[in-house]
Amino acid sequence: MTSKDNTNSSDVRGDRVVTTVEGAPINEPFATQRIGNHGPLLLQDIGLIESLAHFNRERIPERNPHAHGSGAFGYFEVTDDITDVCGSSMFSEIGKKTRCLTRFSTVGGEKGSADTARDPRGFATKFYTEEGNLDWVYNNTPIFFIRDPSKFPHFIHTQKRNPQTNMKDPDMFWDFLTTPENQVCIHQMCILFSDRGTPASYRHMNGYSGHTYKWSNKKGDWHYVQVHIKTDQGIKNLTNEEAVQLAGENPDCCQQDLFENIQKGNAPTWTVYIQTMTEEQASKQPFSVFDLTKVWPQKEFSLRRVGKLVLNENPLNFFAQVEQAAFAPSNTVPYQEASADPVLQSRLFAYADAHRYRLGANFNQIPVNCPYASRFFNPAIRDGPMNVNGNFGSEPNYLAQSKKYTYLQQDKPIQQHQEVWHGPAIPYHWATSPGDTDYYQPRILYQKVLAKQPGQQRNLAHNIGVHVAGACLEIQKRVIDMFSRVDKRLAADIKKEIQRASAPRAKL
Ligand code: NDP
Repeated sequence: MTSKDNTNSSDVRGDRVVTTVEGAPINEPFATQRIGNHGPLLLQDIGLIESLAHFNRERIPERNPHAHGSGAFGYFEVTDDITDVCGSSMFSEIGKKTRCLTRFSTVGGEKGSADTARDPRGFATKFYTEEGNLDWVYNNTPIFFIRDPSKFPHFIHTQKRNPQTNMKDPDMFWDFLTTPENQVCIHQMCILFSDRGTPASYRHMNGYSGHTYKWSNKKGDWHYVQVHIKTDQGIKNLTNEEAVQLAGENPDCCQQDLFENIQKGNAPTWTVYIQTMTEEQASKQPFSVFDLTKVWPQKEFSLRRVGKLVLNENPLNFFAQVEQAAFAPSNTVPYQEASADPVLQSRLFAYADAHRYRLGANFNQIPVNCPYASRFFNPAIRDGPMNVNGNFGSEPNYLAQSKKYTYLQQDKPIQQHQEVWHGPAIPYHWATSPGDTDYYQPRILYQKVLAKQPGQQRNLAHNIGVHVAGACLEIQKRVIDMFSRVDKRLAADIKKEIQRASAPRAKL
């Protein structure tokens, strides 16, 4: 495969000779060179030395977070005209198809952890467009635990292992999240601990941008946008007990489900929708559109259909095409921009930087990451470790204003007509809002949405209760207090579930 070709073509030939990495044939690839039959090995056995040395270097740093995942190739097809909202070429005409790769993942667990862990699921898609690679790095929840990125490393640490015991730690998990200034997590916690926190498969869950983005049309009119990717297979979740059981019996069940369904031609599909909001509408909302803990009410901001995502092609090599895939919200294309959401702004730096660390500075040259559909040329990006694409040959490595080289200006809308920001540079603590603002949406979820789904209110209380039962009494009380601000009955049910799950322990 070359860097200009990330298709699933295999380069395998029929008759094969085992060689060194330099291509020289090895006569006895499955034997070591020894003195006589039982004597010591010889340093001259280059094939052996190469194989052992490379084996020691097979692992690359796993992602931190989102280490564990599965992926598949496919395409996005435009079904509805949205050129009034977005001028990106991928939406230019109905029927247009763009090749893509989607990677699903859990967040907190290590690379080999169970597919059924209670965790948000990553839902990241890379589109190979002619305007460059576009990554929608989304989750299966429409919101997140935090809205200030300074909290992010702390939050993720609490989902990982205790530094001393090396075990997952319910005290760490709930201590952080019930700290008053971190209770902005409450909306996400109500989704995470509903049965949507344990999807039955990747095929049976939705993806959401969560963040607000800024899309504009070719005239320069712009909107705030949220994207919803809804499963056509229907939502299907596991109960807590089913998830725990599957984690033991078949921890790779979601990988298996995705791979086998694609293999037998049952390609999963999703319908893509957008919600749009004008700047004026945004100024009238009771919440900030840059607040990652809030959704846009669908009755006011209805879903508008855009297209279809189809995953119909399994990767040929997981390491090359999924483990090395580098998704980053900063990979965007004309007419799709980041908003001022501070978590999104920090992700614009953090994701690409993670890939520079994990894969090296030239990670874009790895075939799966290569913007092969674009006329990629960047005079500033040169050299570096593992530069394998020819390094632009004799092209200038600086902006050369000579007759030989002309640089075309993209006809992008000029951003000076968009938002204008004023103010001093201040440390702004965007902690829990005074009053009820952060509890309003989770309350609707509990009292209206879950109430219509038999057993779902009870499962929410149960799923929280069995998890919190592992925490100390003081933290259990804080959890009950936090959920009582959503709904008193929910808090009372959680208390009962904690007592049931920790029967031999001290009663609250
Ligand atoms: P609506 O009644 O118009 O929308 C409710 C939405 O809730 C549905 O469209 C569905 O979105 C989603 N939903 C259904 N069952 C569950 C569940 N078990 N767990 C989580 N989400 C579920 O009301 P609002 O738009 O005012 O939203 C009400 C609440 O629904 C919100 O506070 C939020 O908690 C939740 N929600 C809202 C979304 C939004 O974009 N407005 C998106 C997802 C959840 P879907 O078809 O995408 O699953």
